Amino acid sequence: MKKFDPATELSKLEQFGEFGGVNPSITDSATFTFLEAGTMVDTFHGEAEGCFLYSRHWNPTNKYLSDALAAMEGTPSAWVTGSGMGAITSAILQLCNSGDHIVSSVTTYGGTYAFLKNYLPKFNIDVTFVIPTDLDAMKKAIRPNTKVIYTETISNPLLQVSNIPEMAKIAKQAGAKLIVDNTFSPMMVSPYKLGADIVVYSMTKFINGKNDAVAGAICGTEEYINSLIDVNSGTAMLLGPVLDPLRSSNILKNLYTLHIRMKQHSKNAMYLAERFVEDNIKVIYPGLKTNKGHELLKSMMNEEYGFGGLIAIDLDTKENAYRFMEKMQQKGVGYLAVSLGYFKTLFSNSGSSTSSEIPEDVQREMGMSPGLVRFSVGLDNDIERTYQIIKSCY
Ligand SMILES: *Cc1c(COP(=O)(O)O)cnc(C)c1O
Repeated sequence: MKKFDPATELSKLEQFGEFGGVNPSITDSATFTFLEAGTMVDTFHGEAEGCFLYSRHWNPTNKYLSDALAAMEGTPSAWVTGSGMGAITSAILQLCNSGDHIVSSVTTYGGTYAFLKNYLPKFNIDVTFVIPTDLDAMKKAIRPNTKVIYTETISNPLLQVSNIPEMAKIAKQAGAKLIVDNTFSPMMVSPYKLGADIVVYSMTKFINGKNDAVAGAICGTEEYINSLIDVNSGTAMLLGPVLDPLRSSNILKNLYTLHIRMKQHSKNAMYLAERFVEDNIKVIYPGLKTNKGHELLKSMMNEEYGFGGLIAIDLDTKENAYRFMEKMQQKGVGYLAVSLGYFKTLFSNSGSSTSSEIPEDVQREMGMSPGLVRFSVGLDNDIERTYQIIKSCY
């Protein structure tokens, strides 16, 4: 049997514009007309196939992008949101009621961590945090009221790899759903194919890849996606984190170059990681054979996309990290900025930026050094030249 390939699945889709345009038309409308009044009622109840009611629920342009994401992910359905956080919070809230419990990886994106830690207690939803590589701790944390297990395929910023097939088993046994944030590894890893129930994305990052928009996505079963947009009880429908169709249209076009970009990000990151090792810099990159998550990631990944575009190096102190990053920016390596998946290299000191929501003592507990510099390696054509510049900044 031929292996699942996200890019091939995506290429099988045929989506045309209204006048035969090679790109699907943009439906720039908030509301839609009906020829027959009865159809409107059916649409409200989610029963009229192919009809659109109101763009907070579905918009044809958002549907094109959602269908493309579902094809790429191998999920029956998907829904796009105005941000990654919109996707993550809706996905979780749809599954949890007051009194429920979540087991989450402690090394999640800072916003996710803050939502789980500070926001969910308002609804009496309890969260137990575990180190994502400790499956025993995850099993032990399960309670009768555990509804969600939450993890990231590759964690931020330590790039730990989650064992998705094993976590899926734990979730299944507990009667809980496994939600996987796959923002760092689109196309590289297909979590749904590995047993995850729901895959969430910040499309702001690699999927769009242009840093010109904030967007997110939720991929899962038809039943689950429909529950999210149910007019009476759907979290996405009622909290309303919908994506603007003009943005959807742009992101859809960028999605079709994702496979090429991922390969180049990975190739460049691998090159830099190997040079950093030679230079005796402490480097975290799952592509390195010495990395703890290397074999696991290899066993899960769609191989041709490589090991991803993120690298972390440890310069011990915050002062070293700051000096190094400022020099790199002055010399044109890229930008001192948060976020990732951009065509230029971006770098930031995780402890004082994207992970600053995580208290410093917890950061230490996670194994996060104050001198950690995270790179989102760009699409540089001449990465050897870039490396020489980086080397002059150590
Ligand atoms: C950026 C990011 C998010 C949040 O996404 P936004 O689009 O900024 O709302 C969530 N998870 C991960 C892993 C991220 O990198």
